[in-house]
Amino acid sequence: MRTQVVIVGAGPAGLTLAHLLHRQGIDCLVLEARAREHIETRVRAGVLEQPTVDLLDEIGLAGRLRVEGMTHHGIRLRFDHAMHRIDFADLTGAAITVYAQQELVKDLVAARLAGGQPILFDVDDVRLDGVDTDRPRVRFRHDGRERTVDCDVIAGCDGFHGISRASIPAGVLTVHERVYPFAWLGILARTRPSCDELVYARHPDGFALHSMRGPEVTRQYLQVPAGTDLADWPDERIWTGLRRRLGHGDGLDLEEGPIFDKSLAPMRSFVVEPMRYGRLFLLGDAAHIVPATGAKGLNLAVADARVLSYGLGHHYATGRWDELDRYTARCLRRVWQVQQFSWWMTAMLHRIDGTQPFDERLRAAELDRVVSSRAAATTLAENYVGLPFATGWVWRG
Ligand SMILES: Cc1cc2nc3c(=O)[nH]c(=O)nc-3n(C[C@H](O)[C@H](O)[C@H](O)COP(=O)(O)OP(=O)(O)OC[C@H]3O[C@@H](n4cnc5c(N)ncnc54)[C@H](O)[C@@H]3O)c2cc1C
Repeated sequence: MRTQVVIVGAGPAGLTLAHLLHRQGIDCLVLEARAREHIETRVRAGVLEQPTVDLLDEIGLAGRLRVEGMTHHGIRLRFDHAMHRIDFADLTGAAITVYAQQELVKDLVAARLAGGQPILFDVDDVRLDGVDTDRPRVRFRHDGRERTVDCDVIAGCDGFHGISRASIPAGVLTVHERVYPFAWLGILARTRPSCDELVYARHPDGFALHSMRGPEVTRQYLQVPAGTDLADWPDERIWTGLRRRLGHGDGLDLEEGPIFDKSLAPMRSFVVEPMRYGRLFLLGDAAHIVPATGAKGLNLAVADARVLSYGLGHHYATGRWDELDRYTARCLRRVWQVQQFSWWMTAMLHRIDGTQPFDERLRAAELDRVVSSRAAATTLAENYVGLPFATGWVWRG
């Protein structure tokens, strides 16, 4: 088998890249370790930045999300018993769209398969060979058979625990990492949203977030210590925690209902550089993780796909590598701005045990400034709705 680009992983990064390459006439093969049903039901992110929605719109993949997604023109910040609104429309002219990641994955998979473009699900034992040569090769097992694919480029879109980053020899990558001493306990509940926008709450007990996945389903989070056991959090304890931290009034009246999913997500900041080794390019969670407070993981994955698509378009049109040589620098500029924003939101809104009261007061002052200064609110809003890009996704010559 031979193709131009092998994409390892059918998450948001891999699937978006596959569509962008197909639109430019570049052949690719997508390999996914899990079953289609698994990736289409995996509960994860749900906030799409304006540039993510615009990109999906431009390539004709935003049909269902435009109908079922919830457009939000702001978020609420709650602390010291008061609610404050950050008005994205007024501050930036842009908005976010609440649409579950698994719904987006469903749309991207369906569109690719409907166009006759293959995704191989349930592949096993994926190995990358010769990535530091001009003849990279991917081996894997599928349907009980050993397969080999020769290609020009490999896109490592296989998430934080995938094999792409692990295939790069020790010493090549510089790793930047910060692990936070707390995690997010997330629930999905069958209730109507208790507020028409996301509510981020800072409370002496810890952070809470009220979010939603549709008109009948809410997604809510509580800050808990790292290493927490879910068994210690029966439903009643979760609702009590949410009631206390989110408070009520000012447009929020917490509605309780059956919880049908409970999970723990560690909070981590992680970046490797460079995001490329020879013919292997890393995208999304394979290269970086952000704490979920800024709602950026999925959006960064799509952003990397956009940058690589531009570089590959240039390469196949001209035979040159110079745009691909800029891949790491282009991606990392955005990645570090997003890391800074996610870290800032996390520090400002969470209870951080073991720090000095002085630092605690500084974080509270920062939040106070965000709700009392238009300039500070604009900084939050610009980052939240999504920073602009230097180039498009297609190289136009
Ligand atoms: C448990 C969890 C909860 C999250 N919750 C939130 C949230 O609430 N809010 C938020 O903003 N962000 C959240 N995120 C972050 C966001 O979902 C990710 O940033 C986003 O999924 C990154 O997309 P990706 O395509 O880079 O990686 P992924 O979505 O991880 O996709 C990688 C794909 O590669 C496949 N794969 C792995 N290994 C191999 C292999 N060897 N061969 C072939 N395929 C392979 C995987 O099965 C997967 O389908 C969460 C992430 C996780 C893990």
